[in-house]
Amino acid sequence: MATVAILGGGVGGLSAAHELIERDYEVDVYERNAELGGKARSIPVAGSGVGGRADLPAEHGFRFFPGFYRHLTDTMSRIPTDSGFAVEHLTPATQILLAQSGRRNELIAPTDLPTTPDELTALMRFLWDFAGPTAHSADRPDFLPAPHAHLPAVVRRAP
Ligand SMILES: Cc1cc2nc3c(=O)[nH]c(=O)nc-3n(C[C@H](O)[C@H](O)[C@H](O)COP(=O)(O)OP(=O)(O)OC[C@H]3O[C@@H](n4cnc5c(N)ncnc54)[C@H](O)[C@@H]3O)c2cc1C
Repeated sequence: MATVAILGGGVGGLSAAHELIERDYEVDVYERNAELGGKARSIPVAGSGVGGRADLPAEHGFRFFPGFYRHLTDTMSRIPTDSGFAVEHLTPATQILLAQSGRRNELIAPTDLPTTPDELTALMRFLWDFAGPTAHSADRPDFLPAPHAHLPAVVRRAP
């Protein structure tokens, strides 16, 4: 069987290695950093671990995988961990918090289509706040709740 050399141990290189190994190729991954993972790797923050614990992991930025991602989650479903598979560590999100420069801040959007009247109201309120003609809540129609009113839980992403 041929041996494949992969330059770079980020998500791209490691995913390619994963696919090739599943097809019985020998794979050598060459990574110039001391750690694998590239831009997606966690980086321990020196001095953040107290009480004998390891330093806390930091990220390049926030991490989210939208529901339309298919390949990444498929790959993660084939990466074993101590307790199952990597994909099981993802947490479904039901709401998204957005900020608008120069307009209303902390807009809360549902992540899925509404299935109840409360969820429909929450979606309408978000759309009004996001794209409405003004940033002033006093102009919001009475049938839409106040900005920080309780939002109902919205439907979880289908598995
Ligand atoms: C701040 C931030 C937030 C992000 N948030 C998200 C998110 O929420 N959701 C999402 O899906 N994606 C997100 N991304 C994007 C995602 O992290 C990247 O698309 C992905 O990690 C890129 O993987 P890659 O393997 O293509 O490249 P890289 O991660 O750049 O990996 C390339 C690797 O190749 C190595 N390399 C380069 N040259 C050589 C060489 N000559 N020899 C050996 N090794 C070499 C590098 O050291 C590196 O490890 C984010 C990215 C950033 C920066």
